[in-house]
Amino acid sequence: MLQALPYDQNIGDLDYLFWSDLIVCLTVDHLSAIRYIFKRAITRTMPTELIENLLRKGDKLYTRDLMGGQSVYGEEVICVKGAYFREWVPWRSKLSALIKRDGLPEIPEGDILYLGAAQGTTVSHISDLFPSNNIHAVEFSPTSYRKLASLSRRRKNIIPILEDAFHPERYAPMVGPVRSIYQDVSQKDQVGMFMKNGNMMLGEGGLGILMLKARSVDVTASPDVIYEKARSELIGGGFKVLKTVPLDPFQVDHAAIIIRKSER
Ligand code: SAM
Repeated sequence: MLQALPYDQNIGDLDYLFWSDLIVCLTVDHLSAIRYIFKRAITRTMPTELIENLLRKGDKLYTRDLMGGQSVYGEEVICVKGAYFREWVPWRSKLSALIKRDGLPEIPEGDILYLGAAQGTTVSHISDLFPSNNIHAVEFSPTSYRKLASLSRRRKNIIPILEDAFHPERYAPMVGPVRSIYQDVSQKDQVGMFMKNGNMMLGEGGLGILMLKARSVDVTASPDVIYEKARSELIGGGFKVLKTVPLDPFQVDHAAIIIRKSER
C-alpha cells in the first residue's frame, strides 16, 4: 500500500533556473518578465505540502514530473528545489477534482486499468504519482489513441490499448489481474462497463474509481437519482460502494464513486 504521509516543508525557495529564465524574459519581452516576477513573488508565499509525488501549493495541485520538466498538454511546469512539478487543474481532470473535494483515494500498489484514457491528460498525472505501477490505458478513438501512444513512448509505465472498454475479454489476457480500475467514459451504461471489467480483472479487495457523468446516463433525471441508481447497481453486482463524491463545481453533474471489490 502506498503511504501518503504528509510532511510540511518550506519548499518555496527560488529554483536555480529563476535568474537565467528571467534574463531570457528580459531580453525577449519586458511585459512577460514583469508578469513572471509577480507570479514568482505570489507563488513563493503560498503554503506548500508534499505528499508522495503530489504537491499542493496554495490552492493549486501539481504532480512531480517523472520526465524532468516536460509539459504534456500545455500545463504549467514549476521547479521547486531542483524538482519539476506539472500543474494539475481540477477543471481538466476529474481525478484532480476528486482530490480537491475529498483527497487522494488510497490507490493500492500494483497495476492500474484505466478506461477512457483519451489523449492521456489524467493518465500522465497518474504516471507521475505512481511511477512503479503499470497503467493499462484503454481508449477506442484512434485519434486520441495516437497521442496516448506517443505519450507512452516517453513514459514507460503507460501501456496504451486501442480497444472498446465494453469488451474487456479482448484485452484481459494481455492485461492480467489489476489492483485498481479508474474509469472515465461518457457512455450510457458506465456502471455495466465498470462491472464487466471489474469482474474480469480486478483482484479481491481491489479499488475502483468510477467517474460517473450523470448527463450521459440520462439527461432528464436529477444527477442525485443517477448516482443512487449506480450505487444500487454496483451493490447488486457484488461490489462494495465506499462513498460517492460529487465533483461540482469543477466537473458539473459528475460524481466519483469509490468502490471496493468485496472479499468473499
Ligand atoms: N479520462 C480522460 C482524462 O481525464 O484525460 C478524459 C476521458 S473523456 C471524458 C472520455 C474518453 O472515453 C474519450 O476519449 C472517449 O473516446 C473514450 N471512450 C468512450 N467510450 C469508450 C469505450 N467504449 N471504450 C474505450 N474508450 C471509450
